Amino acid sequence: MTDRTSSTLDEQTEVGSYFVATYPPFSAWTAAAVERDGKVALATPPVPGVPLGLYLHIPFCRKRCHFCYFRVYTDKNAQEVGDYLDVLAREWELCSQQPAVAGRPLDFVYFGGGTPSFLSTKQLEGLVGRLSALTPWTNAEEVTFECEPGTLTEAKLSAIRGIGVTRLSLGVENFSDEILELNGRAHRSPEIGRAYAYARSLGFPQINIDLIAGMLGETDENWRTCVEKTLALEPDSVTIYQMELPYNTTISDNLLKGTGTFAQPVADWPTKRRWVGEAFEALEDAGYHVGSAYTAVKDKSRSSFVYRDRLWQGADMIGLGVASFGHINGVHIQNVDTWETYSAAVRRNEIPLSRAYRPSDEERFIREFILQLKLGSIEPAYFREKYRVNVLERFRDQLDSLGAQGYLQTAREDAVSLTRDGLLRVDRLLTRFFLPHHAGIRYT
Ligand code: SF4
Repeated sequence: MTDRTSSTLDEQTEVGSYFVATYPPFSAWTAAAVERDGKVALATPPVPGVPLGLYLHIPFCRKRCHFCYFRVYTDKNAQEVGDYLDVLAREWELCSQQPAVAGRPLDFVYFGGGTPSFLSTKQLEGLVGRLSALTPWTNAEEVTFECEPGTLTEAKLSAIRGIGVTRLSLGVENFSDEILELNGRAHRSPEIGRAYAYARSLGFPQINIDLIAGMLGETDENWRTCVEKTLALEPDSVTIYQMELPYNTTISDNLLKGTGTFAQPVADWPTKRRWVGEAFEALEDAGYHVGSAYTAVKDKSRSSFVYRDRLWQGADMIGLGVASFGHINGVHIQNVDTWETYSAAVRRNEIPLSRAYRPSDEERFIREFILQLKLGSIEPAYFREKYRVNVLERFRDQLDSLGAQGYLQTAREDAVSLTRDGLLRVDRLLTRFFLPHHAGIRYT
C-alpha cells in the first residue's frame, strides 16, 4: 500500500530537479566565465595539499533508460567509440599540460557515464594505457568503475580489475525483470547474479550495488524483495537514489506533452522516502551503517567513497568527456555538451569548456556545508578552521527552522546532525542555506 492519502500536491513527483549536486546552481554558471575564470584556473599552479581527481565520462549505453537525463549515445559503432576514446585521451594530454594539473599525482579516478563497462576490453585497456602513460594512477586511493550488469563477462571484469579498479559499482537498480523492462533498462535479473559472482571471485576490494527507489511499476512487495535480494548478495555498500524526473528524460517529456505513454505513475515522495527508510532499516538490522542520504556500508573501517568525500571537501577534479563537470583551483567548469562540438574543440587542441563559475569564499563555504550535510552530520570545527565561520551562528535561523520541522537531531559545537526523517529528504532542505539570490532560480 502506498502513502498517497497523506501526500500533498507538493509531494507528487513532478518534472524538475531534486538532487543537489553542487552550489551555486548550474544555471548560474556562464560561458563568459570560461576565459575569465575557467581557463585562468587551469593556468594557475595548484594550492599545495589539495587532492586531484580524474572523472572520465563514457557516454555510451546499450539502451536509453526512460528516466535517464545524462548525455548518452546508444547508436555509436565501434569506430565511433574508438574515435571518442582518442579524443578523450587527447583531452587529457591537453589538461595534463596545464599548470594546475602538470606533475600532480591522481588521488582518485572515477569512470562514470553512460556505461563505462560498455567498452570492450581492448578499448578499455587501450584508453587506460594512454592515460596512465601520462599520469600513472598506481597510487590513487580509489579507482571507481560504474557497470551495467548485462555488459559484463568474466574476461571484461578481469580486465577492469587489471586496470586497478578498487571500487566496482553495479547499476542493478531493481531485481524485477518486469520493472527493468518498464523503465527501459537494458539488463535483466540473471545478468545481475552472474556479474556479481564473477566480480566477487576476482577479489575487487569494494563492490557497491546501486538501487533506485520508485521506478515505474514499483510496489511495496517488490521493493521488499529487492532489499532482500541485495542483502543476500552481501555487497560492501549499497547506494539508493530516489527516482526523480529532471527535464530531458523520456518520462518527463511524456508527462509534459501529456502523451500518456507510461501507464504507471512514478511514486510520490513520501512513498519513496518510506521505501529508502525501510531499506536503511533492513540494512542496519543486517549490520550495515548508513553513511549518507543515499549510502549504507557493511564495514565502516574497510569501505569508503573517496570520490564523494574529496569532492565534498573541495578537491580539484578534471572531468574528461562530453558535458563533463570539473572543479579546479576553486572554479567550477563544464565541457561542451554535444559530440560534435566536443570532438571539434579537442581536435583544435582546445580545452573544450562551455561554462564556468568562480564561487566566492562564502559560496565555497556554503557548497561544502550543504554537500557534507548530505552525510547526515557535519563537524562545525571543520568549517571554523577552513573558512573561519561558526556554522551555528551563520545558519542559526536555518537550523532553527530544521529543528521546528523535526529534521534536526543535534546542533552543537561538536556536531550538527539530521534526524533520519531529515536525511531522507535532505536535498529538499538545502535551498534554505543558499544565498537569497540563488534560492528561487532554476537549478540546472
Ligand atoms: S544506464 Fe545510466 S547512463 Fe545509461 S541510459 Fe541508463 S540511466 Fe542513462
